[in-house]
Amino acid sequence: MTDLAPLLHHRPGEVRRVASAANEAVKAIRALELKKNREASGLFVAEGARTVIEALENGADIRAVAHLEASRAEPHVARIAEAVVERGGLVLEVNAQALEKISRRDNPQTVIGVFAQGWRDLGDIDLSAMRRAVALERVRDPGNLGTILRTADALGAGAVVLVGDCTDPYGLDAVRASMGSIFAVPLARTDAAGLLAWASQAGALTVGAHLEGAAGIRAIPWRDPAVLVMGNEQAGLTPELASGCAALARIPMHGRADSLNLAVATGIALYESVRG
Ligand code: SAM
Repeated sequence: MTDLAPLLHHRPGEVRRVASAANEAVKAIRALELKKNREASGLFVAEGARTVIEALENGADIRAVAHLEASRAEPHVARIAEAVVERGGLVLEVNAQALEKISRRDNPQTVIGVFAQGWRDLGDIDLSAMRRAVALERVRDPGNLGTILRTADALGAGAVVLVGDCTDPYGLDAVRASMGSIFAVPLARTDAAGLLAWASQAGALTVGAHLEGAAGIRAIPWRDPAVLVMGNEQAGLTPELASGCAALARIPMHGRADSLNLAVATGIALYESVRG
């Protein structure tokens, strides 16, 4: 396992120049592409100056930043580096080769942030204070998960809850697809029983999106709060979770496709649920 120590142990607010892609701190950031390293450290990577600035504005816990040494004087880069130093994090001023190594891209973003993961305890999320929460059972595709986080953020959902064995929202592809919304939407994980207990305690309506739903999505008598429950890309909702929902809703389809993509279905169902 790659040594993550250079990221975790450094002088508070240290600014380090890095002229080699073989640098230990560079390797440690790169190692965060593996889930086991993200889990061991509780850290993850988000790229791009705009995303990093939005994350800071959302109060995200930034631990390190790598940026091109040559862009040190650019106002947004300087602002980010200053925020990292203030918080006692690590600033790496790197050359182009090191930045490419970190981001695995030929044209990498000029700023790469390392953040503490922001998992919330489900019990600490007050469902009664929000209109909608979105629950995703066993979501497998990182692009779907990131897109759903972005959609949930845009449509004002108060939380996204991952149910069962889901893809990691802090993986690079999910973070990229979320376009910064990973920092804006409270995120928790639980099992089917935990989700249903959380909804029931808040007196929330639970609506599962299901191909065989008895009601069309527009016929659901939506009230607040409500939890929209979405199923796995291949298998849909488990019988346990489907039977625990107060209603199962279908989105009418008129063509040859036998189902909608999960992220698209979530967007349609969530939009319908708050439309009135
Ligand atoms: N073969 C799977 C099945 O039998 O459910 C298809 C799963 S679909 C790709 C992934 C999820 O998107 C479903 O579990 C459901 O929550 C939602 N979904 C997709 N199309 C839907 C539709 N027309 N009506 C309601 N939900 C839909």
